[in-house]
Amino acid sequence: MRYVSTRGQAPALSFEEAMLTGLARDGGLYLPETIPALTPEQIAAFAGMSYEEVAYHVMRPFIGDAFGDKEFQAIIARAYAPFGHPARAPLKQLAPNHFLLELFHGPTLAFKDFAMQLIGQMFQVALSRRGARVTIVGATSGDTGSAAIEAFRGLDAADVFILFPEGRVSEVQRRQMTTPDAPNIHALAVKGDFDDCQARLKDMFNDHAFRDEVRLAGVNSINWARVLAQVVYYFTAAVSLGAPHRPVSFTVPTGNFGDIFAGYIAKRMGLPVADLVIATNQNDILHRTFISGAHVKEGVRPSISPSMDIQVSSNFERALYYAYGGDAAAIAQQMTALKDEGGFSVSQGAMHVLRETFSSGRASEEETSATIKATHAATGEVLCPHSAVGVKVASEHVGPVPMVTLATAHPAKFPDAVEAATGIRPPLPNRMSDLYERAERQTPVENDLGALQSLIRERIQR
Ligand SMILES: *Cc1c(COP(=O)(O)O)cnc(C)c1O
Repeated sequence: MRYVSTRGQAPALSFEEAMLTGLARDGGLYLPETIPALTPEQIAAFAGMSYEEVAYHVMRPFIGDAFGDKEFQAIIARAYAPFGHPARAPLKQLAPNHFLLELFHGPTLAFKDFAMQLIGQMFQVALSRRGARVTIVGATSGDTGSAAIEAFRGLDAADVFILFPEGRVSEVQRRQMTTPDAPNIHALAVKGDFDDCQARLKDMFNDHAFRDEVRLAGVNSINWARVLAQVVYYFTAAVSLGAPHRPVSFTVPTGNFGDIFAGYIAKRMGLPVADLVIATNQNDILHRTFISGAHVKEGVRPSISPSMDIQVSSNFERALYYAYGGDAAAIAQQMTALKDEGGFSVSQGAMHVLRETFSSGRASEEETSATIKATHAATGEVLCPHSAVGVKVASEHVGPVPMVTLATAHPAKFPDAVEAATGIRPPLPNRMSDLYERAERQTPVENDLGALQSLIRERIQR
């Protein structure tokens, strides 16, 4: 299995190379040359399997010879052992034909643990085999950073630098990034917003001399291995609701488009997914794109669902690539226009293809709070604000096909917004109840490429 760039100007790579690289050298994102399909019989056999077994069968066709079968099974087992629920991704019912997929039982209480825990173990195995060490740099709107730090802390094959927008992540998110005291972990508070962090990260990757000097590796949601890890829970959820014999729809609280794109891959692999609903908060570039066909940036407006406060939705490039039938030149042109002119229009043909798979909706701040309150009153379920954006948008799309809304974070990660809506302050699970007492360690840094590069050069263990 080879991986190709959405912009067509970077060499094709193996799974392991694409995983260790992250962003392609032409600025594009890696995608598998072909998408392997599972038969209805193979999917039906997932019923009754553990999460780890399904994970093995879903991901195996994508990894080529990167890991032996036993080795890959052991990686998966280590990745999900720290989860606080034996089902890993349990499904709950909210209303007739509306279900909630709880993706917040990992070590940092957000769905990003599903991908990051796996990536940490895969990096460790691949790098120790090569006798190599890398510098991992990630940008975060909150949850990616803590998940990456948790997955890599203490692993000897990597130094990890996480860029987060100062003052724009929740206190729990910040503390999860600043309290681990492993020497290979560096939390950097950048004076800017998430899009600034993401832009500086891309600048570092596009500076090829620096990239080679520090052996840069990326674990942001652009990393193909992360998308792949997220494909798994679409299968476990759909199968427990009757797939492959019955179609299932999903609503996904969306920011960078990584999570919902994994749902698209599941569909292309043969899972009967009827509708994939993009749920955005007031930062609604994707919803506006689906209404008008124009993909145009606006300023980021901070919301109570901060992990979705972005206007550059990186993984949307992958969906566009398929919608344009693999026309890498067209994608490269549009991404240049997005950077230089702040937007581009999607062709009518491509919009038609996208609308066959995806629909979209938006929840305002007031609607998000009202949904947390109403869901709690009706079902007792306490939603985090991101999940509430999903539940609100999903409720407008529930029909004869079962709808699954992805609950992307634990409510205790966003206690202020949840308390304001319900009057209840959600407690942290026991295993992290001393988070507020642990000492914090972070480095403030300007939103400036040069400043970041010198800091990283200074800190890495060569
Ligand atoms: C990252 C995140 C999202 C958005 O996911 P994408 O893959 O970036 O679309 C939604 N909710 C929470 C809690 C997150 O951490």
